[in-house]
Amino acid sequence: MKGFTTQIVHNDRLSDIEHGAVHKPIHTSVAYGYDSTEELAAVFQGKKPGFTYGRQINPTVEALENKVSQMENGLRTVCFGTGMAAIGTAFFALLRRGDHVVSSAFLFGNTNSLFNSFIAQGVDVSFVDATSVEAVEAAITDKTKLIFVETIANPRTQVSALAEIGELCAARGLIYVVDNTMTSPYLFQPIKVKASLVVNSLTKYIGGHGNALGGAITEMGNFDWQQFPNIYDDYKGGDPRMWGITQIKKKGLRDFGASLSGEAAHHISIGAETLALRLERQCTNAQKMAEFLAGHDQVQKVFYPGLADHPQAARSAELFKYGGALFSFELNDQVDLWAYMDRLNVIIRSTNLGDNRTLAIPVAHTIYYEMGAERRASMGIADSLIRVSVGIEDLDDLIEDLSQAFG
Ligand SMILES: *Cc1c(COP(=O)(O)O)cnc(C)c1O
Repeated sequence: MKGFTTQIVHNDRLSDIEHGAVHKPIHTSVAYGYDSTEELAAVFQGKKPGFTYGRQINPTVEALENKVSQMENGLRTVCFGTGMAAIGTAFFALLRRGDHVVSSAFLFGNTNSLFNSFIAQGVDVSFVDATSVEAVEAAITDKTKLIFVETIANPRTQVSALAEIGELCAARGLIYVVDNTMTSPYLFQPIKVKASLVVNSLTKYIGGHGNALGGAITEMGNFDWQQFPNIYDDYKGGDPRMWGITQIKKKGLRDFGASLSGEAAHHISIGAETLALRLERQCTNAQKMAEFLAGHDQVQKVFYPGLADHPQAARSAELFKYGGALFSFELNDQVDLWAYMDRLNVIIRSTNLGDNRTLAIPVAHTIYYEMGAERRASMGIADSLIRVSVGIEDLDDLIEDLSQAFG
């Protein structure tokens, strides 16, 4: 079985599901009983496979972890209650006071907020223009342990210098963390650019239905954890490629407890089965909608990697299957942003992305409001910028909605 979707829909069944069920049932038990004390001890000591306690392991969550590993072509995945929990727990587990991180400046807003919290706790973070490998390299110090980038940034859709930064991390022995949420493993597999760890917010495209929160970290096997000073002795057993992800799970997930529930894992697993089908439709819709708006005389600018005038159009075409399912656009001065938004009928005025429904949000007045006008200007966020997360609706309905909203 080789195809992306074939593998996902058969993944559960091939690992021996109870009662011959064709997909993994929802397990809700927090604890597990054992036939003998010896077995109980062996499972707790990690000498025998088995289930200990729901904060760190659950059969339904484990089935999803296997699926994410397969989609990303990685070695092992740990799931979390949200994407933010995945990033925060990984940072907490791997970094110590005095360590330094180089991060893309074009970040999901909450990740930006999280990194500022780490700065307050003594882990330093430099924010740089990650579309340029030179900018990333210039920020590296002798304290740098990790480089963090997103694939396509939201809302302005900058595409990081993914391959070049991967080479840089390999040459300098740095952990390379790629947040693949915006592309998902269907459009892009960060293992191709030598990522060490891959982040996915399962809430977005992988889950796809806006009905469950979740996050994941996947180990790619590219990083030499033997030369990484922050691994505790307890986690240095076995295959050294697994030391980092083991510490994230055994130290991070245990200490912070941001666990994914069996119910949420089930929703996300069912969603993941149609990831490729949904994204095919969402990305072709996005391309056509972006082209429509780019040709409209009341639109100032459209930001979408699938448009020829996008600064990283060539990089996007080379790395990603499509230019993604999210774009943003600025209205001309004569169009009233609030009236335009209010006239949308099919497209929902809402945050979130990756839903089957098309969602639009005026960025400066909502998700980027708190950071203030100066910081928004430095990030190129105009007051009239609208972000659109494209769904699976029929294209004609979406174009008609965008068009009639000009009034
Ligand atoms: C949404 C998002 C996250 C956080 O995921 P949650 O599941 O909402 O916590 C992280 N990174 C990116 C790129 C996102 O879009």
